[in-house]
Amino acid sequence: MKEYDFIIIGAGAAGLMIADGMGKDPAFKDKSILLLDKEDKTTNDRTWCFWEKGQGTFDTIIHKQWDDIYFAGKNHRKTYSIAPYSYKMIRGIDFYTNFLERIASYPNVTFRQEVVNNILDEQNIGVKVITDKTTYVAKQVFDSQFNFKKIADRPKYPILQQHFIGWFIRTKEPVFDPSKATFMDFSVEQKGNTRFMYVLPFSKNYALFEYTLFSASLLPKEEYEVAIKEYMDTHFKDVEFEIVEKERGSIPMTCFDFTELNSGNVYHIGTAGGWSKPSTGYTFRNTAIKSEALIQHLKENKPLHSFQKRNRFWFYDVLLLNILYRNNALGRSIFESLFAKRKPQLIFKFLDEETRWYEDVYIMMAPNPVPFVKSLIRHVYWILIGKKKRW
Ligand SMILES: Cc1cc2nc3c(=O)[nH]c(=O)nc-3n(C[C@H](O)[C@H](O)[C@H](O)COP(=O)(O)OP(=O)(O)OC[C@H]3O[C@@H](n4cnc5c(N)ncnc54)[C@H](O)[C@@H]3O)c2cc1C
Repeated sequence: MKEYDFIIIGAGAAGLMIADGMGKDPAFKDKSILLLDKEDKTTNDRTWCFWEKGQGTFDTIIHKQWDDIYFAGKNHRKTYSIAPYSYKMIRGIDFYTNFLERIASYPNVTFRQEVVNNILDEQNIGVKVITDKTTYVAKQVFDSQFNFKKIADRPKYPILQQHFIGWFIRTKEPVFDPSKATFMDFSVEQKGNTRFMYVLPFSKNYALFEYTLFSASLLPKEEYEVAIKEYMDTHFKDVEFEIVEKERGSIPMTCFDFTELNSGNVYHIGTAGGWSKPSTGYTFRNTAIKSEALIQHLKENKPLHSFQKRNRFWFYDVLLLNILYRNNALGRSIFESLFAKRKPQLIFKFLDEETRWYEDVYIMMAPNPVPFVKSLIRHVYWILIGKKKRW
């Protein structure tokens, strides 16, 4: 059985960032690292967007970036300049190719395409990772396989999902404005949920349209697609178009404590480690920040159980998700009040968990406070009576 210091399961966003971070850091030069994925990572299976101030570490592979975003609620509609932030997009395939090329140049990191069938944490002996080809042993495993059922089986907190289907649309005529991204367009029918369209125009005749919900249950595939067709009919009537590519996704939105899934030598990373922001589903930039912090944590020989800590933003997410779980239709008015009354720069800062406490208060005073106060009272009451399910 071949032995490694670290085995990373999954060469997705988190696995690749951690493998690259270890590979280029001299502190890990004597450590052997194996990266496993069931895929060869040569498919463009997703696009990642995130906001960032100024220049960033992924700039060489950015496919497109926007300095203006558009938000539309029921009554409030506005295009915002988001400087000093920009909204950046990376194509999955560019990220995989770039990171796998770099990883191939590190002598101590090996990438293998194998399916992991089982992981056995044998505590003092190490972890056995059983694949479709062989069995490996590692001192420490980082696992990015996300299994929705595992969190759904332990529902202490409500579980919503950011779920969507996206169409990459090419039109004959130049009809799009590539200078601004539609961040959230709530003009679509809400049907008792939080539903919006997300539009990323790459050029005047090529754009990604994503029909997105923040809700508990997925829709039948046709419902997302009919909504995209209707949106095209409303906003680009009689414009001829072809669907070039499609993507779909579902990202967990929950305050579930993902560290419960870890064992002594198996630590979950990425979405599987709870690195998706519960209130938005945004994961990519957080994964970059967390991966760097995790590597630093390992270098300082700190135990992994002390890596992730809850902060006050986690609690704000608890309150919001409870509201959206109980009354999913409130999402539009909450986001609309935020964008109508506060600058997007402050909203981004808050979502990046970088605001000071008085800025938090200012942000939270934008929407109608009643649902938030009720959510807070309910939460405190459930703690006092020792209720196991906080929803
Ligand atoms: C279509 C889509 C679009 C998204 N867009 C955004 C966005 O715009 N912004 C944002 O912040 N977040 C976005 N996300 C959310 C999040 O950033 C991504 O899901 C991100 O890829 C999560 O990284 P990860 O490493 O946790 O998981 P993944 O990138 O999914 O990586 C997990 C890896 O594990 C491998 N794997 C799974 N099971 C096995 C097994 N048994 N054996 C071996 N390998 C296995 C998979 O093949 C995969 O490569 C999006 C998600 C999707 C699905």
